[in-house]
Amino acid sequence: MPELPEVEVTRLSFASAIAGGRILQARLGKPLRWPLGLDAQALVGRTVQGVRRRGKYLLIDLDQGLLLLHLGMSGSLSFGPNQRPPGPHDHFDMLTTLGLLRLHDPRRFGAVVYADDQQAPNAVKLLGHLGVEPLEQGFDVDVFFQGLKKRQAPIKQVLLAGELVVGVGNIYASEALFLAGIRPTMRAAKISKPRALRLHQAIREVLARAVAQGGSSLRDFSNAQGQNGYFQLEAMVYDRAGQPCRVCGHPIKRIVQGQRSTFFCAACQKP
Ligand SMILES: [Zn+2]
Repeated sequence: MPELPEVEVTRLSFASAIAGGRILQARLGKPLRWPLGLDAQALVGRTVQGVRRRGKYLLIDLDQGLLLLHLGMSGSLSFGPNQRPPGPHDHFDMLTTLGLLRLHDPRRFGAVVYADDQQAPNAVKLLGHLGVEPLEQGFDVDVFFQGLKKRQAPIKQVLLAGELVVGVGNIYASEALFLAGIRPTMRAAKISKPRALRLHQAIREVLARAVAQGGSSLRDFSNAQGQNGYFQLEAMVYDRAGQPCRVCGHPIKRIVQGQRSTFFCAACQKP
């Protein structure tokens, strides 16, 4: 599943290339998670002004309105001048004067939704509840600590809920908690200020590193097919159950929290 770094790298892969492109055609494939909310033909003639990101949504600003795009579980985007005819899993094509933007999404949990502006009810419904961006200035350590203090749930689940900070998904929550030395089952409210500081720093660090790493593989990523869009960190704990901890050698443990796998080192991560 694409997480925030993958979405940000996707954005970087085509944002400047598509800016200024006028839409020549728009084609929908099979239904996605939510309908476009507008006749695709109505997009023709509009111009792409830029691409922003909010959480795991890409916001494609048009000279009139915007498109909110989500990659769901299995979606990937490609953008370029020489694309093949659409395949069975290509469910949104937008041809511009600068190239074709294509959403490839076998499981169809992704979506492209049109909104008149970011204050439109359908945009607010998707974006309105999102917490602060972890890589921006607004992710304030004191506000983060105060938010933790109010939450009795295990810290891993508090991170995944996305209310305190947006876009820390399953992989990066496990990785950040390892880096901060905090047991994922610990109640958020019990985390001391110094440990909250370390966690705040760790979240920024794992996400920024993943964006940087993905950015360096951008060439593969943006070249037409869009299949190999995901990349993985050299994970410290994620998906390493039973393997030795890279720091202390103890076997990594796997538990299930809220139906999601959590990985941690019982020696390095204190309750
Ligand atoms: Zn360890």
